[in-house]
Amino acid sequence: MPNAWSNWSGLVQAAPKLIATPADAGELADLVRIAPGPLRVAGAGHSFTPLVKSDGTIVSMEKIEGLVSHDAATSRARLRAGTRLGPLMHLMQGIGQGLPNMGDIDKQAIGGALGTATHGSGPKLGAYHTQLETLQFVDGTGKLREYSRAGDQDMIHATGVALGAFGILTEVTMNNMPTYRLRRRKWVLPIAEMLKDFETMMAAHRSAEFYYIPFSGYAQFIASDLSDAATTARPTEEDEAGLATLRKLRTALAWLPSLRRRLILGAIAKLPAEDYVQDWLNVYASDRQTKFNEMEYHLPFEEGPKALAEIIELTEKRFPEVYFPMEVRSVAPDEFWLSPFHKRLTCSIAIHHDAANDAEPFMRAAEPIFRKYGGRPHWGKMHSLKAADFKKLYPRWDDAMAVRRDIDPENRFVSPYMASLFGIDT
Ligand SMILES: Cc1cc2nc3c(=O)[nH]c(=O)nc-3n(C[C@H](O)[C@H](O)[C@H](O)COP(=O)(O)OP(=O)(O)OC[C@H]3O[C@@H](n4cnc5c(N)ncnc54)[C@H](O)[C@@H]3O)c2cc1C
Repeated sequence: MPNAWSNWSGLVQAAPKLIATPADAGELADLVRIAPGPLRVAGAGHSFTPLVKSDGTIVSMEKIEGLVSHDAATSRARLRAGTRLGPLMHLMQGIGQGLPNMGDIDKQAIGGALGTATHGSGPKLGAYHTQLETLQFVDGTGKLREYSRAGDQDMIHATGVALGAFGILTEVTMNNMPTYRLRRRKWVLPIAEMLKDFETMMAAHRSAEFYYIPFSGYAQFIASDLSDAATTARPTEEDEAGLATLRKLRTALAWLPSLRRRLILGAIAKLPAEDYVQDWLNVYASDRQTKFNEMEYHLPFEEGPKALAEIIELTEKRFPEVYFPMEVRSVAPDEFWLSPFHKRLTCSIAIHHDAANDAEPFMRAAEPIFRKYGGRPHWGKMHSLKAADFKKLYPRWDDAMAVRRDIDPENRFVSPYMASLFGIDT
């Protein structure tokens, strides 16, 4: 098929009239003026929702990448928005800077990570967009605009999380920190203990998260703290091998839960304890080979344990095909208008489903639990919410929509999916 586009998991497919790869902001501005609409901009295609899907033009930012400038005194770096996080980490380390936090992978483009409020874990660590100092983008009329926190903080808060609908980012300045080291430890504990001590355990480390291993009754806890110690070797990652074991046991024993549990516990007992010290860029990201689809909801922090307990019960009673561990993280509150962490300390819970099978029934059954606890969905992960729902969840929703209309008066960036999210009649 000409111009076929697909996201990482294969769930979202598109056949646009044009896939364009502008070399600079000037070419991008021309495209915004004349290319067939709607124009949707792609980062690395790692979102699970149809944010990038378009019948008109998909803009790839892969040529607009790299470091523009940096300042050692403030630990700031100005970057082109198509820069992927993997190369970006090395660029930052090379100039003595570190990203304060990262998510699970380093494949996204910085523009894409900002677009959906991509985050890591840590009660005092914000998502990537909280590092923004300046934003430069091409608006819906093809005009280049620039905003800074010092000059117009409201515009940074309005457009810092923007789903590719408030202009196409060309350059961003990020507030980083001097390069640093982390000590990372992993250990296993009963989920009942984890849920009982949730608040203290999640608050006791700079960054803490855990995975619940379905049908096991056990969680794997991961703690990262700043360290001045000498580096030690990062152990070979066992995640993919562990997943393969969980999948095999699921396939063979889906309807024999007690045997499945016993064998999972046997596999967990063999997991080596992990404790190492490494430079920040060698710690956060993992290699994800097995394709999945995912839903993640961001809940008021204190609701996390109750919601997770219900999700576990639902999964283990009704969805024996599930084998991916559930991921639980915390994220600091922020002021960005479309940030799911807007003004609240968050507990994020993510559930995954093998991409080879239909994830919908599981996700449809889990979503009401997340919503009951006041959850806001990750913009880049499966959910069924529409404009009327978001209006209730986001106190600055109407303000954000007014800014969007000013940036894109002719709805150049509005696809049918974006229209359903924003409540726009097209
Ligand atoms: C294996 C895997 C692991 C993941 N781990 C995490 C995690 O740990 N934490 C987390 O929060 N999420 C995670 N995600 C989700 C992922 O980080 C987000 O969906 C992210 O937005 C994907 O970035 P991307 O570069 O692929 O952007 P895309 O998916 O291509 O685009 C995302 C959004 O950003 C917009 N966009 C892209 N570039 C620009 C630009 N230059 N200007 C304006 N808008 C732009 C797009 O239009 C779209 O709306 C994971 C996803 C996968 C597949």
